[in-house]
Amino acid sequence: MTEVIGASHDVMMRAKHDLAASFRAAAMHGLNEGIDNHFSLAVPGRPDLFLLNRFGPHWSEITADDILTVDFHGNVVGGEGAWETTAFMIHRGCHRARPDANAVFHTHMPYATAVSMTVGGFDTRIHQNSMYFHDRIARLPYSGLADGPAEGDRIASAVTGGATVVMLDNHGVIVIGTDIADAWHKLYFLEQSARLQVLAQSTGQELIRVTEAVAQLTAQQWIDDDQAAPKLFAAVKRQLGWLDS
Ligand SMILES: [Zn+2]
Repeated sequence: MTEVIGASHDVMMRAKHDLAASFRAAAMHGLNEGIDNHFSLAVPGRPDLFLLNRFGPHWSEITADDILTVDFHGNVVGGEGAWETTAFMIHRGCHRARPDANAVFHTHMPYATAVSMTVGGFDTRIHQNSMYFHDRIARLPYSGLADGPAEGDRIASAVTGGATVVMLDNHGVIVIGTDIADAWHKLYFLEQSARLQVLAQSTGQELIRVTEAVAQLTAQQWIDDDQAAPKLFAAVKRQLGWLDS
């Protein structure tokens, strides 16, 4: 690739390769919905550009060639194909609002989305997985498809202030990561947490909630383990037979 983007060819190819792997991994875990939903990554060294999946391929077949390089005006400056409208609006908004949010993953994964439809929402004090997200969850009421800049910016407003997850009521989730492995790690454990919550709530029994102090401690323990995310993502790529090049 010979794009003039301020990032080396090798860095760009690795970023596209890993972003494509994250789609394959999400499909493997059933986190996709048809050909919709989208993951993006800020271009290293160019916070005004981001990588985004083109509209069309199933997540189980995405390769690095399906990843577009897009600017904040919507111009495709690298890759072949076109973005889906809500994808561009949501991800442009998030990357503009949170320059530190290098990776932005949006899915309608089933259990987290089911929880987004409940008044009580996601509970960060009922399982050690869910405590990972304690004090880092934002919620946003639903107000229609993100088919224009206003709705994209409204969604983006919810990622300000340090939230790593936005529960989009009646819609799905947005997960913010410092890199692809971090976003994947959060996406995976968010869905696992939501699945456990739905299962626990389905018993009809009252749930045990830990104290605020224990939830805060556990969240910090998750965050302090800086090897967990890269190791999980490397393992998932091996499961996919996705060899690093
Ligand atoms: Zn959506």
